[in-house]
Amino acid sequence: MLGSLKADILLQAAMRTETQLIIDREALQPIGAFDANSPAEAFTGKVGSRQVVLVTHGRDPTHQCDRIGTISAATTCAAALARFSPKLIVNIGTCGGFLARGGSICDLHLPERVAFHDQRVPIPGFREFARGELNTHPVDALRAELGALGGTCSSGGSLDATPEDRAILDTLEARCKDMEAAAIAFVARDWRVPFIAVKCVTDLVDDPEAVQDAFLRNLRSATMRLATAASALLRSDYLPV
Ligand code: SAH
Repeated sequence: MLGSLKADILLQAAMRTETQLIIDREALQPIGAFDANSPAEAFTGKVGSRQVVLVTHGRDPTHQCDRIGTISAATTCAAALARFSPKLIVNIGTCGGFLARGGSICDLHLPERVAFHDQRVPIPGFREFARGELNTHPVDALRAELGALGGTCSSGGSLDATPEDRAILDTLEARCKDMEAAAIAFVARDWRVPFIAVKCVTDLVDDPEAVQDAFLRNLRSATMRLATAASALLRSDYLPV
């Protein structure tokens, strides 16, 4: 079945924790590894008339943790595009929010734009390439249906943020900070597949509390909000597929 399985919607999440509720609620079936050179895992099922494939980045063979971050985001996305030929890619996951821009824990976002805040190349031409700003597929009606916010989601390789990162996040007026969305959007753009992101805030970047403490405390409630959003999204009349 795997060899010929095609997806209407590819849901991509970095962490297994972020997806277990979605897998359970939608009764998605495990189909295991889909790329011989990657620990990424896939699950599939029908939601209404749509064939859904959910992929997670899998566990790192050396460090035994989920393969969060931009590298595994890009490699997993490219492998899933090659294998499942999805018509739409949805990156679902948690993110940091910003008090300065009115953010709260568990806010849901469908960002209009993605970028990278930690890729800095001060050479003409490369500066904009490194910033990697891309618009997501327009989903105003879906955003309203889900009760979600818009804004910019900026990605980088770190959970924390240096002063340089913070300055760029402010310039971008970022409302979400994550470690995957812009990398997946980059691959989706090359493949000419529409891309959207669904992000739920687990922590606040500009709050004095350590990001990792808030993240771990709020992960479960954010995961529940993401699963509810995923169920609505997969059934929505406002998707481009
Ligand atoms: N410490 C966590 C590891 C994951 S945190 C654990 O032990 O489970 C990072 C993940 O959450 C990434 O996939 C990223 O996309 C998302 N994330 C949540 N808040 C973030 C923030 N403030 N900055 C960057 N990524 C964040």
